[in-house]
Amino acid sequence: SPNRRRLVIGNWKMHGTQAGNATLLDGLRSGASMADDRDVAVCVPFPYIPQASTLLQGSGITWGAQDVSMHAQGAYTGEVSAAMLADFACKLVLVGHSERRSMHGESDKLVADKAVAALGAGITPVICVGETLEEQQAGQTKDIIARQLAPVLALGAQKLAHVVLAYEPVWAIGTGLSATPEQAQEVHAFIRDRLAGQGSAHVRILYGGSVKPDNAASLFAMPDIDGALVGGASLKAQDFLHIAAAA
Ligand code: PEP
Repeated sequence: SPNRRRLVIGNWKMHGTQAGNATLLDGLRSGASMADDRDVAVCVPFPYIPQASTLLQGSGITWGAQDVSMHAQGAYTGEVSAAMLADFACKLVLVGHSERRSMHGESDKLVADKAVAALGAGITPVICVGETLEEQQAGQTKDIIARQLAPVLALGAQKLAHVVLAYEPVWAIGTGLSATPEQAQEVHAFIRDRLAGQGSAHVRILYGGSVKPDNAASLFAMPDIDGALVGGASLKAQDFLHIAAAA
C-alpha cells in the first residue's frame, strides 16, 4: 500500500566481529541511497550497537537490537533496558523472535510487555509471530497467530500505531524454505484483518523466513507484505542491499 512505507530489517543474530562488522557496515553505508524512499535497518548484537551507530550515522540506515528487557531498570543481571537502547539511538528492537520464544521460553504476554517497554523509550518494537512446522501441518497456523497476537492487539490503537509486526513461519527461518508469496499473503491478510478490528490496519507487516535476493521481489509484490525481516542474507552487504532495493 502507498500508505505503508516499505521496511527491510536485517537480523544479524549472534554473528559478527568488530573487523567483520566494519566491512559489512561500510558496504551498507556505501549502498544506502535507496534508504531515501524506504526504511532500512539492522538489528545487531548488543556489544556492537555503538559500532553500528558510529558507522551508520547519517547513512539513512538505522540500527537496533534483537531483544529488550520488559523492566525499566534494577536488579536484572544480564538484561538490557529500552532506555539503554535509546541512549545509543536505537530506532527499533525485535521482540518475540521465534528463537527467543522457543529457546528462552518467552510467552505471548512477555513479548507484549517487552513491546510496551520499547514504546516507553520511543523505540519501535518489531513483534515477531509465526507457527512451527508441526503447527502448520496440523492446520493450526491461524489459531497460533491469533493466540500470539492477542496480548499485542490488547495494547490498543494508540500503541499499535507505533509497532511493526513480522510474520515469520518457524519452518521457513534459516531453512532456505521460504513461504510462497501466496502462503505468506494469506497469513498477512489474516493479521491485517485482526489489526483492522482494532482500528490499526495501517500497521506494517513484514515477512521473514529465508528471504533472499531471488525471492524478495515476488514476496514484496503481495498486497499485505510491507517489507522483510532478513536473517542469513543480511550478513552480506550486497544481498541485503539487493533485498532492500526490491522493497
Ligand atoms: C530471522 O531470523 O528473522 C530470519 C528470517 O532468518 P533467515 O532469513 O535466515 O531465514
